Amino acid sequence: MLRLIAILLLAYAAYRLARRWVRGRSAPRQVRRGAGGRIDDVMLKDPQCGAYFARRDGVPLKHEGGELLFCSPECRARFLAANPPPEP
Ligand SMILES: [Zn+2]
Repeated sequence: MLRLIAILLLAYAAYRLARRWVRGRSAPRQVRRGAGGRIDDVMLKDPQCGAYFARRDGVPLKHEGGELLFCSPECRARFLAANPPPEP
């Protein structure tokens, strides 16, 4: 049983090495957008303007212990103006 585990570990390590080798030889991977590429991201709604945007494009703001995400720094600033953080 121990030998089987050792063989599996070795095979996994070899697999990881091979993958790193293949990746190192190819050009750096770019995030593919459009042209058949799929965008793997979550769409979020801006609490200020109601627009939808991808989570990775969001502008974060710490608010009341949580984190809000906005579509743009402008919306973040507008939200902050309307909801000023409580003074400590
Ligand atoms: Zn917005």
